[in-house]
Amino acid sequence: MSAEKKTKQADPAPSENLEALRREVNGLNLELLDLFNRRATAVQGIGEIKKREGLTTYDPLRESQMLEQILKKNRGPFPDELITALFKEVFKASARHIDDLAREVSKTSRRYRKRDTVVRLDDLAIGGANPAVVMAGPCSVESFEQLDRVARQLKKRGVRVLRGGAFKPRTSPYSFQGLKEKGLEILQLVAAKHGLITVTEVLDPRDVGLVSDHADILQVGTRNMFNYELLKELGRCRKPLLIKRGFMATLEEFLQAAEYVYHRGNTRIILCERGIRTFERWTRNTLDISAVPILKSESHLPVVVDVSHSTGRKDIVSPVSRAALAAGADGLMVEVHHRPRVALSDSGQQLDLPCFGRLMNDLDPLLGGDRTRVRGGK
Ligand code: PEP
Ligand code: MN
Repeated sequence: MSAEKKTKQADPAPSENLEALRREVNGLNLELLDLFNRRATAVQGIGEIKKREGLTTYDPLRESQMLEQILKKNRGPFPDELITALFKEVFKASARHIDDLAREVSKTSRRYRKRDTVVRLDDLAIGGANPAVVMAGPCSVESFEQLDRVARQLKKRGVRVLRGGAFKPRTSPYSFQGLKEKGLEILQLVAAKHGLITVTEVLDPRDVGLVSDHADILQVGTRNMFNYELLKELGRCRKPLLIKRGFMATLEEFLQAAEYVYHRGNTRIILCERGIRTFERWTRNTLDISAVPILKSESHLPVVVDVSHSTGRKDIVSPVSRAALAAGADGLMVEVHHRPRVALSDSGQQLDLPCFGRLMNDLDPLLGGDRTRVRGGK
């Protein structure tokens, strides 16, 4: 027998070696697990102190300093690139953990309140198992006669909420900017005449008082979802608020905007999905239908869908409205004008009165009763 063979026989069997290494790896996994969780607890502690002191939680400078320190001590066999990638994942996981904790305490979150919030105005209830609400009316209030004509027809079709912009956020400064205070007065007069509830947009924190004096529900438009000063002012106001999703906002940002209002004490908030900007050009925006069940499961607030601004076209309003209701929406917003072709804003997307009548015929079977059966979410 050669000397080489003798040494091989003295070694433990390869399978024993493998088992020993596996046991070592199992032990190291548990040590890592313990270290990850200890690290998470420490990071959580830092997060709590920072929150108390009003400091931002994410600190890129601190991250690069930590990484530098780690790499100085790296003796391999992992190369610096791999260690960097691994620790970046660890940093990311910690940041996500802090975000998740923050989300849990959000007052608009389903974790904060299990039951659906129902926004009540007189005998109208929006949200929960109540019938879906249709909010309809022209893009802009143009005159008493215009609004009166539309409102009369809406009332006949059982609509309870009249929409109409008095302060108009227009892309071009040369476009019709709304009748402002005069528009609010017309909206209030026409609504009182027909026994309707009103919703209208407020653009400026300085106008919150004025708009509240004339309207029942205040609206924050898509362009203002990120206007935190406006949101803060609306948090102090006691009128219900319909807040539209920013056309470039994530759902998380959308809920955080609502949080600005809710945590200041105005808890009567309706979320409105109105489409987001994508590369698609055959619709004005892209309606994010998945936002409806996601918002309903992440938050307890009612969700309505604006089928006019999301699509920008009349021909698909009926199927899109039905899809929104099937996805669990608590209501719809739709623009209606007695003569859309001469409307001062959004003339291409407003339904005329016969067309609105047909839409209501299509929606009739879906609007009433308990719609919890069609609800998505958790
Ligand atoms: C509106 O509803 O009048 C309006 C301007 O809508 P958005 O903010 O969704 O564009
Ligand atoms: Mn419009």
